[in-house]
Amino acid sequence: MKTLQAIRGMNDILPVDSALWQYLEKTVADLLGGYGYQQIRLPIVESTELFKRSIGEVTDIVEKEMYTFADRNGDSLTLRPEGTAGCVRAMLEHGLLGGGVSHKVWYTGPMFRHERPQKGRYRQFHQIGVEAFNLAGPDIDAELIILSWRLWQKLGLAEAVTLELNSLGSSADRARYREALVDYLRARFDQLDEDSQRRLESNPLRVLDSKNADTQALLVEAPALADFLSDEAREHFAGLRALLDAAGVPYIINPRLVRGLDYYGLTVFEWVTDKLGAQGTVCAGGRYDILVEQMGGKPAPAVGFAMGMERLLLLIETLGKVPAELARQVDLYLVMLGDAAVSAGFQLAEQLRDALPGVRLVVHCGGGSFKSQFKKADKSGALYALILGEDEAAAQQIGLKPLRDRTEQENIPWQALPGRLKQLL
Ligand code: ATP
Ligand code: MG
Repeated sequence: MKTLQAIRGMNDILPVDSALWQYLEKTVADLLGGYGYQQIRLPIVESTELFKRSIGEVTDIVEKEMYTFADRNGDSLTLRPEGTAGCVRAMLEHGLLGGGVSHKVWYTGPMFRHERPQKGRYRQFHQIGVEAFNLAGPDIDAELIILSWRLWQKLGLAEAVTLELNSLGSSADRARYREALVDYLRARFDQLDEDSQRRLESNPLRVLDSKNADTQALLVEAPALADFLSDEAREHFAGLRALLDAAGVPYIINPRLVRGLDYYGLTVFEWVTDKLGAQGTVCAGGRYDILVEQMGGKPAPAVGFAMGMERLLLLIETLGKVPAELARQVDLYLVMLGDAAVSAGFQLAEQLRDALPGVRLVVHCGGGSFKSQFKKADKSGALYALILGEDEAAAQQIGLKPLRDRTEQENIPWQALPGRLKQLL
């Protein structure tokens, strides 16, 4: 029979790798908790309509990347390609955005996009997203960037990432800019790649995001969005920059940074690295003041970002920043021989777990000789083997054998074991 395989672009995270994932998740959760952000847990499946309305019909995600299927009753459902839409839906559905009350939330989990799988680009990938609602000023934009900067420092990535910043202006600013851009590009229509030709009519700002080199060359001389910003948009951007300058967060202004989703306005930013090849954006976000209203709510300003966990983990590994303590997952390994020893061993193990909360103790299962058990103990990475044979059981003692150095084995009375281990671990 043919063995079954995972879906292309959807990866298993194997036991050897999960400690690094947990480390990243915990580091982020602790950091966000420290800034007063609370976790929101959201469904993976939403109505297709939600993503069409929020992300925009003429975007890569909605046009060609969504996993959409009919529910048994015929409803069109989609595996979420990103988290913001569902987050806004939930905030609205539960009436959390009324009365101008501000909220700071984060979420994590798998996202799904039908893209060409390659290093740093998968069909099921994981994001950590952070969103702040009912805060309109550049202060919260700055906070989001400052906290991500702190995260890079904690993870040892700060040297390898660069912050790119831009302002997309207000909707009205972009409407005026759109006209100028379309005039410019229409005059050069034949030189545009096929996607960009199509987008010129449907969503011309997306042309700025084209990955086609010829199109990018053409854009160098194109009108710049920065010249179309209203005073208000300029002020917001200046406010953000002043706060980042004061906080000492380095950045570059990238006037051609637009995001691949329609709901962004004013601030947009990306943290990029040159260490991962083409998939260099590890974190991206911006302000989306129009989205809540667009989704049927009363207007509520909002800003957020999402980071790609696979890319962050690749970066941590590439830079050799995996914390050394992750290499060892076991403290103690209990080897036992004989029925009396096994019975006493199980009881002792539970007493140790009571006395030393958090101890990582593997109790050997599956029998076998001392020799084969010691091999497993050694392979587990444990610092010490605990040894219980017939003789030890009869004398109510236990052997404590260091596995990582050549110090002598000690024999310890059972009741003294917790105390001795507290000294050692
Ligand atoms: P890209 O330009 O790389 O396609 P994007 O603009 O589509 O990214 P966003 O929708 O802003 O990405 O998602 C935020 C982050 O999620 C990205 O910066 C990236 O780190 C990660 N990400 C997006 N798509 C994928 C994917 N297919 N595989 C792995 N990570 C991804
Ligand atoms: Mg993409």
